Amino acid sequence: MDMSTAIEREAASTLPVYPQLPFVPVDSEGCHIITADGRRILDLYGGHAVAALGYKHPRLTAAVAEQTSNLVFQSNAVALDVRALAAEKLTSIAPANLTRAFFVNSGAEANENALRIAFLATGRSKVVAVEHGFHGRTAAAGAVTWKSRDSWYAFPSLPFEVEFIPRDDIDAAKNMIDSDTAAVIFEPVQGVAGAYDLDPAFVQVLRDESSKHGALLIADEVQTGMGRSGNYFAVQGLGIEPDVLTAAKSLGGGIPCGALLVSDPVAATVKTGQLGSTFGGCPIAAAAIVAVIETIEEETLLHNVRELESMVRQQCVGGAVTSVQGGGFLLGLVCDRPAVDVQKFLLQHDILTGTSADRHVLRLLPPLVLEKQHVAQLVSALRLMDD
Ligand code: PLP
Repeated sequence: MDMSTAIEREAASTLPVYPQLPFVPVDSEGCHIITADGRRILDLYGGHAVAALGYKHPRLTAAVAEQTSNLVFQSNAVALDVRALAAEKLTSIAPANLTRAFFVNSGAEANENALRIAFLATGRSKVVAVEHGFHGRTAAAGAVTWKSRDSWYAFPSLPFEVEFIPRDDIDAAKNMIDSDTAAVIFEPVQGVAGAYDLDPAFVQVLRDESSKHGALLIADEVQTGMGRSGNYFAVQGLGIEPDVLTAAKSLGGGIPCGALLVSDPVAATVKTGQLGSTFGGCPIAAAAIVAVIETIEEETLLHNVRELESMVRQQCVGGAVTSVQGGGFLLGLVCDRPAVDVQKFLLQHDILTGTSADRHVLRLLPPLVLEKQHVAQLVSALRLMDD
């Protein structure tokens, strides 16, 4: 067996596109990652907001194992009870107007298809997005991602016209959303940007102006969705019904999957053959989605998220942390120094956190099963920073 570390081996065998953290996970349990050199790291980052139920959750593990042993795969060419159940459960927790699901494999793919639906439904040419938003790396999702063309977009031209509204600028939203607009896409809390929560009045204007001009409002809940906001979806906390909602990340608790949820009028515009995916809605992902939703319900995890969010807000401010932004378990600790320095310090104390596009914001995206003792551990470690 090759005895060099996974870090060295990946550096030699994969494309060098990720700055990697200095540890190698080999096992996991609850909210902890166990590393090759025996550390138990408290994971407040959840693999980019994915590990909704933490690690080795018995319900998720059993659901995936059982589905794998019964029927590992069949495509959308055939109907499956488990896929039907996943769609029923997902639409039952979504805003009431979103009645139909389409399953895909990732957040970018969900947004790509949401945009395609908007162009099909409206026949228009323009998408309005929000400055600092992140929607994924594919051609359309990347086109509506703020500043992607300055760094990684790379495609020679945009597939459609895109305009970006400055965050929370209500007048600009009113001017930019017009009768050429096919879709308005936004994240209720901008995750990659540093858990920046958009002004609810601004989001309401996005809703109103989209309705007024016949554009589809797409809520990208890839990062905020599936309980992370303290509601199943963040738009529910804002009292907004989008026309399309996209989900991924926590959706399968670690099994790769994504979904779009659409309203009846939008569903009526989509015809056979216009969307498709080989793996989307595969039985293992569907079983995982059902397990995640049932666990959130049975373990009252929305309540847990809200309770521990307020504990973080009350106890983490002080020392390096000047304020807390975001919502639920998508929180940005605004730091008085580069967030990367705080991240390094916390990792030395066996706590994993994330950075963001805002160099002063440290991101927390913990599993929804986080416990009070874990928040207490974070608070103690933060206090050590200035000792
Ligand atoms: N949308 C949002 C809000 C995201 O945060 C991300 C990923 O970080 C994406 C879309 C893209 O998701 P994926 O990486 O699964 O394609």
